[in-house]
Amino acid sequence: MSDENFNVTGCQHDTNETRQPGSTAEVRTMVLEARQSRQALYPFSSGLNWGYGSRSPVTKDNIGIDLSRMNRILNADEISTNNPIAVIEPGVTQAQLSAFLTERCPELTFNVTGAGRDTSILGNALDRGVGYFGPRKDDIFGLEIVTGTGEVIQTGFRRLGEQSPLAHCHPYGLGPILDGLFFQGNFGIVTSACFRLIPRRPKEVAVSMALIDVSHLSDFIDELARLKRDGLLTSVTHIGNKARTQSTLAYGVTRYLETECGYTPERALAEADRAISIVAPDEWASLAAVTGNAGQVRAAIREIKQRISRYARVMVITDTLLDIGYAVTHALRFISFARANAAAIHSIRPLHALALGIPTDVAIDNLLWKYGRSDLPAKALDESNCGLLFVNPALPLDGKAVVKVIDELEIVAASHQHKLYMTLNIETPTSMVAVINLLFDRSQPEEVERAHRCADDMLACIRRHGLEPYRARADMMKDIVQDNEYWRTIRKLKDVFDPDNIIAPGRYNLVD
Ligand SMILES: Cc1cc2nc3c(=O)[nH]c(=O)nc-3n(C[C@H](O)[C@H](O)[C@H](O)COP(=O)(O)OP(=O)(O)OC[C@H]3O[C@@H](n4cnc5c(N)ncnc54)[C@H](O)[C@@H]3O)c2cc1C
Repeated sequence: MSDENFNVTGCQHDTNETRQPGSTAEVRTMVLEARQSRQALYPFSSGLNWGYGSRSPVTKDNIGIDLSRMNRILNADEISTNNPIAVIEPGVTQAQLSAFLTERCPELTFNVTGAGRDTSILGNALDRGVGYFGPRKDDIFGLEIVTGTGEVIQTGFRRLGEQSPLAHCHPYGLGPILDGLFFQGNFGIVTSACFRLIPRRPKEVAVSMALIDVSHLSDFIDELARLKRDGLLTSVTHIGNKARTQSTLAYGVTRYLETECGYTPERALAEADRAISIVAPDEWASLAAVTGNAGQVRAAIREIKQRISRYARVMVITDTLLDIGYAVTHALRFISFARANAAAIHSIRPLHALALGIPTDVAIDNLLWKYGRSDLPAKALDESNCGLLFVNPALPLDGKAVVKVIDELEIVAASHQHKLYMTLNIETPTSMVAVINLLFDRSQPEEVERAHRCADDMLACIRRHGLEPYRARADMMKDIVQDNEYWRTIRKLKDVFDPDNIIAPGRYNLVD
């Protein structure tokens, strides 16, 4: 199963061939040719949409349009703290933008996702991905699109031309805002867009909050929601279950024991479990950022501690604390408690850097390691036996309602012998999402099938609660897109932008 024709969701990639345009003009030519021959095209930016279908189209016989060669930052010379916007092509990766800002404008950072250094910014945003600071959709405006008719349109004030003083700064333009149609849509191929950068604040700290009593989970969520609404927590608030936290730490802890303590791989593996249960014993642990000037951060931390301490143990994490903590515990690593803590700090270091706009491959390396393929680079995850399906319900910001649905999802998963790796993310002041993945070995057909059956039953469970996923896998579109008034209206719009249905047929749209 783990050959390059299959992706991590266990589905076939199913593209006949792949083309790599180098410019908007070449994309346009490909679209016009495809129109003539009624050939379906499936565009992707870096094609690393792991757990959602990687670079797999929804229907058969598509030609893949791989946009990774279009990787210019079009306004590179104009980016500054007074102009914190990067106009990027689809192939610009997280690693590339991070390196560019470090060299050219270190006062700026951006909304980084945990999905690895080689993933794109635009493709992720267009699938409505979520970064450390919030939904990427909110960072994007002023799109350039080749529609299915072969026309090239610019949204917002980019339509006035790149030289207009409004082209790259005013997010809305005049009149109806078309941007939304091109996120989770199939109306065209986006060839560039404006991406908001984030000015660094003088102080950036992370706050870890571990739930003391699991029966208080819903109150804990409600209090974290209030902290978000009150503007005290400035990033997405991530609330991870024990399976998620422990699996996140596993690779780093094991590596520390092997490389820094000279353990054999077998001994490191056996000790890692013990170490992780010492440093991450909690059923639920939350992580969020607090940013501002020194006074603002101090006051926010004081208030957060005061309000959340009845539910959680609070720890403030800064670079300096990690440095000191590591120096002390590493020196004392002959004591098992110190060794466990040194290993944990070693393991969370790259994740802490996400808050500073530095992308990392650790989450992907973790999966490659788990499936015995540490030899592969992160971007080759699809070549390993790792199987992964995301089932991500959008949720109201209401602790009781959230606990009810996740408890039921746990029961559904257990009936298929699956454990849920789950993070509850408070993304906006009014809503949250659960990021839930199933892991399986896709070299085992029985495991692939069981994981898909489990995912289907989880979707049914989500819907029984009147909810929907916030982002769908390619193999799930037929269940998500239904023949009702809403999706029929979306299909009518397809006739305007892509009357021959050649761009990504069936992706967030009725197939015909
Ligand atoms: C361990 C792990 C951690 C992850 N963490 C995160 C995370 O923190 N946040 C997150 O959001 N995701 C996460 N993911 C999921 C996924 O890997 C990322 O979302 C990744 O960024 C998507 O791949 P990509 O950037 O290559 O996008 P692509 O695969 O290029 O694009 C995604 C889809 O958008 C459409 N598209 C892309 N580009 C265009 C275009 N130019 N025009 C029209 N349509 C286009 C296509 O349909 C494409 O399939 C994670 C996955 C794993 C395995």
